[in-house]
Amino acid sequence: MPHPKAARLQALPPYLFKEIDRLKAEVAAKGVDVINLGVGDPDQPTPAFIVKALQKAAENPEHHQYPSYSGMGAFRTSAAAWCQRRFGLELNPATEVVTLIGSKEGIAHFPLAFLNAGDVALIPTPGYPVYHSGTLFAGGVSHFMPLVAANNYLPDLNAIPEDVAQKAKMMFLNYPNNPTGATADAAFFEKVVAFAKHHDIIVAHDAAYSEMGYDGYRPISFLEIAGARDVGVEFHSLSKTFNMTGWRLGFAIGNAEILDGLGQVKANIDSGAFNAVQEAGIAALESDQSSIAAMQAIYTERRDVLVAGLQALGLKVEPPRATFYVWCAAPQGMTSTQFTALLLQEAGIVTTPGSGFGEPGEGYVRFALTVSKERMAQAVERMTKLTF
Ligand SMILES: *Cc1c(COP(=O)(O)O)cnc(C)c1O
Repeated sequence: MPHPKAARLQALPPYLFKEIDRLKAEVAAKGVDVINLGVGDPDQPTPAFIVKALQKAAENPEHHQYPSYSGMGAFRTSAAAWCQRRFGLELNPATEVVTLIGSKEGIAHFPLAFLNAGDVALIPTPGYPVYHSGTLFAGGVSHFMPLVAANNYLPDLNAIPEDVAQKAKMMFLNYPNNPTGATADAAFFEKVVAFAKHHDIIVAHDAAYSEMGYDGYRPISFLEIAGARDVGVEFHSLSKTFNMTGWRLGFAIGNAEILDGLGQVKANIDSGAFNAVQEAGIAALESDQSSIAAMQAIYTERRDVLVAGLQALGLKVEPPRATFYVWCAAPQGMTSTQFTALLLQEAGIVTTPGSGFGEPGEGYVRFALTVSKERMAQAVERMTKLTF
């Protein structure tokens, strides 16, 4: 008996990494030593003090029972204090912080709280696929805002048609940006706040890369902008900041009423993050943050090796000042997927085609800085033998 999938699943674009996984397996089967610069998953282990904190917390029987839906009080207090130290934000941990089972969970569930069937969400493209899939699952309609080099990969709010802006209920943004590595300044966020107030739109800012800034650059929080808390929330993640992707821990901050909607969805779907993991998160957030500086130093070295190598090949690429992605233009006359296939088949290097993140990403390839600088140098060396 066939079991046709629901329309909401059939409406999803093909899974970005599926075709790449297939090609990767094909190349690896030939015995090629594959260098994986595809998926954005830190290669470094979680700092030992965080692992220790989990080990200790796992032994506490209190943590073996259901956690609180919106998060352990102590974790939310820690997250609020971290945001105070890092961004100067004053947040009430009881109402303006919600623990998430990774920020992806919160992002995916968020549209369920505010979109009715047919409501519009404004979504950056190229972008993290979850903004669109979450919108689809909620019965909403995505209106894509192109991110292009000419506008520094910031959406042109003036290009959003008036009738779309009227209908829009929410806008997703993500800076520092995956996949382009672009950053946003206060002037842009001020325009967003004004636009959101004018059109009565909820802003959901994904700040997963807030701690991945280089050369002294420290990304700002959207909520630092005057009036931002009237319109928005911000998603934070411990995944990239503390090499904790497998642990599933993040938090949302901002407008209490909006977060209450998200909390209500979560109370009906999941039962919160494991308290022992939240205890480990407290250890991470309350640490001296030296692990972050060490991480930044590692990615800076890798970035410099890769970008110098790509530039020497004549490719158009700028060193990103944030994120662990390098967004590189494909050689003249090649599409994203053609360049990705060439890199994989001729050099054994896995990358992600920019077009997989949305149509305006066509002509670009995303390299993730997820291998050692020695391995990165090897990748560069292999690329010098390519002809394009
Ligand atoms: C990695 C990433 C996240 C983090 O997801 P978690 O669920 O917290 O691991 C969120 N947004 C973007 C754009 C990302 O690249």
